[in-house]
Amino acid sequence: MSRSHERAFEALRRDVERLTRRLLEVAAERAAVVGKLAAEKKAAGLPRRDHAREEELASAYTRCPPRPLTERSARRILDVVIDSAIEDLGVSLPRESSIARGSGEPVVVLGIGESARRAWILGPCSVESEEQLTIVARATREAGGRVLRGGAYKPRTSPQSFRGLGAEALPLLRRVADAHGLAVVTEATGVSNLQAVAEVADAVQIGSRNAQAFDFIDAVGRTAAAEGKAVLLKRGFGCSIAEWLSAAEYAALHTENIILCERGIRTFEPSTRFTLDVGAIPIARTLTRLPVVADASHAAGKVGLVAPLAAAALGAGADGVMMEVHPNPARALSDREQQIPVNALPSILADVRDRLARAVAW
Ligand code: PEP
Ligand code: MN
Repeated sequence: MSRSHERAFEALRRDVERLTRRLLEVAAERAAVVGKLAAEKKAAGLPRRDHAREEELASAYTRCPPRPLTERSARRILDVVIDSAIEDLGVSLPRESSIARGSGEPVVVLGIGESARRAWILGPCSVESEEQLTIVARATREAGGRVLRGGAYKPRTSPQSFRGLGAEALPLLRRVADAHGLAVVTEATGVSNLQAVAEVADAVQIGSRNAQAFDFIDAVGRTAAAEGKAVLLKRGFGCSIAEWLSAAEYAALHTENIILCERGIRTFEPSTRFTLDVGAIPIARTLTRLPVVADASHAAGKVGLVAPLAAAALGAGADGVMMEVHPNPARALSDREQQIPVNALPSILADVRDRLARAVAW
């Protein structure tokens, strides 16, 4: 390269560097203004993001982009600039999402949601008998719980394990819950039992093993909406947060009444059954307008860990906690190790409250 070429080359390089820096500075200035706007919106009780307005602006600006930018490259720049002004959580929802925070009012389901009181969702792993369910429902009610859980159809790793009472458990759940003024959450494991479950339950649970069965999740959303019921979507134990929220979009094609449930993911750690991903709770709450609860029992795998995990989840902002309770866990037909003995429920809930109080005092 000749001397004069080298000089021109260096000058152009410096220009590019200067403009790149300016680009970042302008983006930072814009993010600061967006932050102020967000604070004003919060004070006025308005949603932080207005996806429709963002979309309108982005398409207006990119229709005739300053040359030599193309419409496509201008659009890519704006998408990044707009998203980067929002706190970077490493996950984002598509702009068309109907569950994204700001795409509508915060959702409250079964009294569970942002503005509502934290909720206990309690009940046995599996419904085993009317007597068993009644004992747990009474304790749930006395403990201030509002939702009764219990598996009628159980997804089991082995077909030789107890797979639930099936259809027989559904009227039992309804009757016992009604007698104690509780709502019912129970799982539909497939299309063969979906309609029956949706007729009885207040919220149809989609289990961790069905967490990416997209056609099924779509069908649950449709059926629950037709029955005027809600959906509780467990996170798949092998799913990223983005995959979990994306799965929720399938149910959200039909209803906004969806509760997200973090229940632990599979990691290399064998001493807990799953690893409760506490960080997923604030991320899901920040990104979406859906209530987020945590299932402390399936994550813990053993009773002694349920209270600390429940406290951690509530400390991280969970709108409620699901826990398994049984009159006599040693004789339970499923998940013996992790179910709270019914007579220990008051002390375990007191332990959760105590842990939270101590964390606050600290
Ligand atoms: C359950 O809640 O009964 C259950 C089986 O949970 P998960 O799908 O999270 O394993
Ligand atoms: Mn269980």
